[in-house]
Amino acid sequence: MISSLFFALISLTGGIFSPLTPIAYLIILHVAVYWKFIGAIIASFLFVLGFSVVFTVQGNLLLSFDFMTYSTQLVFFLLVGFLGGIIVSRERKHFIEKNVFESLANKDHLTTLFNHRSFQEQLRIAKEKNINFYLVFCDIDEFKTVNDKYGHVVGDLVLKKIAKILSATVPTSLGTVFRYGGEEFAILLYTDQSSVVEELLIDVKQKVAEEVHYCHGGKFSVTMSFGCSKNGKEEPIELIEEADKLLYEAKRQGRNRVVQSKEVKIG
Ligand code: GH3
Ligand code: MG
Ligand code: MG
Repeated sequence: MISSLFFALISLTGGIFSPLTPIAYLIILHVAVYWKFIGAIIASFLFVLGFSVVFTVQGNLLLSFDFMTYSTQLVFFLLVGFLGGIIVSRERKHFIEKNVFESLANKDHLTTLFNHRSFQEQLRIAKEKNINFYLVFCDIDEFKTVNDKYGHVVGDLVLKKIAKILSATVPTSLGTVFRYGGEEFAILLYTDQSSVVEELLIDVKQKVAEEVHYCHGGKFSVTMSFGCSKNGKEEPIELIEEADKLLYEAKRQGRNRVVQSKEVKIG
């Protein structure tokens, strides 16, 4: 439909001498973006065909200038299709590779959450911007027992499920979840309202505890402890240490709980 309209316009604006001809190159390149090399080649052949029809109807085969113009255009169509197809296909491949490398560098392989490296980077950026945020450290309670009792494969499945619960419960508009290491996760929550943070963490804690894990015909569940510190004037490392201490405090108090900085006097 569009191509017949295009060739009608070409016919009306000078046939093979039409100033609109370069639009065909753009269309071929556009097709290449969507259908890569094969698409570009097919599009260029279709333009060759359409242009040949225009030339047959309107051109003068006996005029060498007409024939030169016609054949030059055909070569251009094929060249644009061939080169455009190659360039777009190569760029797409590079784009996919770049995404794969980025993902390998920033994501944790097991849980697909952002990894430790990414956490340090985001924390540094948040600190530099001096914005309000909370840092939460959370750790699965008695996870060693899960591994010892059910094996590491089941342990890995539990880690994956918990990562899913965390990322599904923490809205991306509010924060980011990271796998800090082992069975420990970190969450950066970009808000200054402690009530929002508290509500969210209680929700996460409950969802983790309610999740039932099945194994060898049996079932079990796990709990998590949380340490939560508010960003202040300290260095990133000091903020991490504070959240870690609060997590330790949550463990000390009996696990399966949230401890926030305002509730606990450290030292
Ligand atoms: P606590 O409540 O004090 O945190 O007790 P815990 O048993 O969870 O803590 P501990 O540090 O003693 O054990 C952590 C366990 O987590 C030991 C380690 O084998 C397990 N773990 C860490 N990373 C992975 C992992 O990627 N996969 C599996 N399956 N287990 C892991
Ligand atoms: Mg643990
Ligand atoms: Mg731990």
